[in-house]
Amino acid sequence: MTLSIWIDIAVQAPAHSQVGGLLTYRSPVRVQAGQLVRVPFGQREVLGVVWAIRDQAPQDMPTASVRDVLGILEGLPPLDAHWRQLVQFSAQYYQRSLGEVALSALPPQLRDLTSEQLARRLKKQKTERTVQTSPGPALSPDQMTVLDQMATGTGPFLLFGSTGSGKTEVYLQAVERMLATDPQAQALLMVPEINLTPQLEERVQARFGSEAVVSMHSGMTPAQRLKGWLAAHAGHARIVLGTRMAIFASMPHLKLIVVDEEHDPSYKQQEGARYSARDLAVYRGRLHTAPVLLASATPSLESWHLSRPAESEDPGGRYQRLLMPSRIGTGLLPKVRRVDMNKQARRAILSTQLVAAIQERVERGEQCMLLLNRRGYAPVLHCADCGWKSECQHCSAFRVFHKIDRTLRCHHCGLTERVPRACPECGNADIAPIGRGTEQLEEHLGELLAHVLRPDGTPVRIARIDADTTRLKGALERQLSQVHSGEVDVLVGTQMIAKGHDFRRITLVAAVNPDTALFSSDFRAPERLFSLLMQAAGRAGRDAAQSATSEMWVQTFHPTHALFEALKKHDYPAFAASELAERTAADLPPISHQALLRADARTQEAAQALLNAARETLQAHLSADPATADLVLQVSVYPAVPMSMQRVADVERAQMLLESSSRMALQKMLWHLHNVLHQVRSQPEHKGVIRWLVDVDPQAI
Ligand code: ADP
Ligand code: ZN
Ligand code: ZN
Repeated sequence: MTLSIWIDIAVQAPAHSQVGGLLTYRSPVRVQAGQLVRVPFGQREVLGVVWAIRDQAPQDMPTASVRDVLGILEGLPPLDAHWRQLVQFSAQYYQRSLGEVALSALPPQLRDLTSEQLARRLKKQKTERTVQTSPGPALSPDQMTVLDQMATGTGPFLLFGSTGSGKTEVYLQAVERMLATDPQAQALLMVPEINLTPQLEERVQARFGSEAVVSMHSGMTPAQRLKGWLAAHAGHARIVLGTRMAIFASMPHLKLIVVDEEHDPSYKQQEGARYSARDLAVYRGRLHTAPVLLASATPSLESWHLSRPAESEDPGGRYQRLLMPSRIGTGLLPKVRRVDMNKQARRAILSTQLVAAIQERVERGEQCMLLLNRRGYAPVLHCADCGWKSECQHCSAFRVFHKIDRTLRCHHCGLTERVPRACPECGNADIAPIGRGTEQLEEHLGELLAHVLRPDGTPVRIARIDADTTRLKGALERQLSQVHSGEVDVLVGTQMIAKGHDFRRITLVAAVNPDTALFSSDFRAPERLFSLLMQAAGRAGRDAAQSATSEMWVQTFHPTHALFEALKKHDYPAFAASELAERTAADLPPISHQALLRADARTQEAAQALLNAARETLQAHLSADPATADLVLQVSVYPAVPMSMQRVADVERAQMLLESSSRMALQKMLWHLHNVLHQVRSQPEHKGVIRWLVDVDPQAI
């Protein structure tokens, strides 16, 4: 007699389908939880993860309708209970189906391989990957203290250390200590964007040998991703260096997690399951009893708040704060200079002082970096006669003028058209750009510095790095290496260039027009600006020899603004304290917790109608039941409003905010909301809705 084993399998179910992601199948042979299997799903054959073995035949469906597992991917050890628990928690917390989260956490190529193909890949694997630790520098007193605190505490830790204070060295030594005490241990090192920090990859490989390290990020080919994943899953790769996706790497012997630049918004996934890899790192560390080290020169206010010291009434935060205040060597942080733009010629892009300072540096053979947060030539093309502006027909945004190929491009939907010869409304031939982008800044600088010579008598070289110049594969790497090798004197770019690069010869960094973030509708904008400027300042004077003369320039109409005052003193704690005071007064995160429900539809009315219907149904339903009536009081559910980018590619977008001082209450509310939404969505009056989604702990409101 053949066996009948009933198992629940996680399969990739379409988002929001009623299928929770687990389906019951029958297997004629024994299987274990965590094994990968191929199963029939509708008309297709798909990959699934065995989630649970049932101890009896399903009662809720006729056993004859249960389909058979088609095959087991042999040779692959099961995904362990910790991994499954991480996936389960993520699905629940971020309101997505288990199957979706489980399957998207696996390398895509795994879905397409047959058992035989997989067996061949596994055979090719190197089982002996040796770790060759080469010695690092002698530790500074700060580094020593921090490592000792890590050894005696349990964490999670928040390492607050200025740029160049030797944080990376602390990660490497923490990994080294871990490897020395446990011959199997694995470490996960997370970074915001690997392609921006190739030096880190090199540094880790140089320290531990390239065999012991695998990378995981979206820039890799499917075959490379599979290879790295298999090496981590088998325990052969001892160090995984990856972006946010690496939080789901299967690492059976995980003993340490490091999140570098923990404040970086790119740790938050912006589609599908909108998880925060930083927050999941803390959860995962607890699962594995592995210490978690979050690190930044400008921590997120969330982590800063969670690591606050105890005070009379307040028991303090759950994280342990570790401090590395000084730069390695004699390196000083650059002097911050504010230029009052009220005193400059009207419409001046660059102040005369800044231009003079740049000239001086170039003539000495030093490098400068200028930051502007908008790419393209000018944000809008404008007709002074009739008032026409280059709006996008499909989005609530202007199309940006790109002079280089004389196009108007929408940065939201991608619509690109040639610049009209004359105003499309009134025929006026004299249409002009207003505002400025990186392209124009580059051109303008070229004019201002045309006469400037380098020490060897050759003319100044200006380069630009932004999303436009780096579209081609390899372009960014090429341009960065030009800066490193000194082929560029003045670098112009968007925030892309402010992060992480170790440009040793840059001695002047300038923020050309940072003011917009001071008055943004997004309450996190000042926090982002401050961290961007601190990061950018950290780019200057990395070479100890030049750090004494290096400068960070800020051109602003609000020179006495508290944010710039704190920047001038390189005083993150002061900035954080004043921001937290404002957040506390307004009851915003990290004091409260938020979630957004978003709906997309052809019309704004239809999008809002779904949200408001869900809200009313939810509140009526919860209030009617004494067991849930409290939730209505604990969680504020605000009426639907248009999103700040209301229309993109002809789709109208609306959002509804949920807010609570209790994370638990908010989670409960979202669970009820999920059920209500399925019900409301199926009503005929909401036919026009294209999709809805939930964003828990959203990064932008
Ligand atoms: P961070 O990650 O905080 O920016 P890094 O770890 O990159 O700092 O250190 C900055 C520079 O100082 C690097 O060039 C690094 O090699 C060097 N460095 C770090 N720790 C030490 C040390 N203990 N002794 C000498 N040099 C060090
Ligand atoms: Zn006109
Ligand atoms: Zn558009």
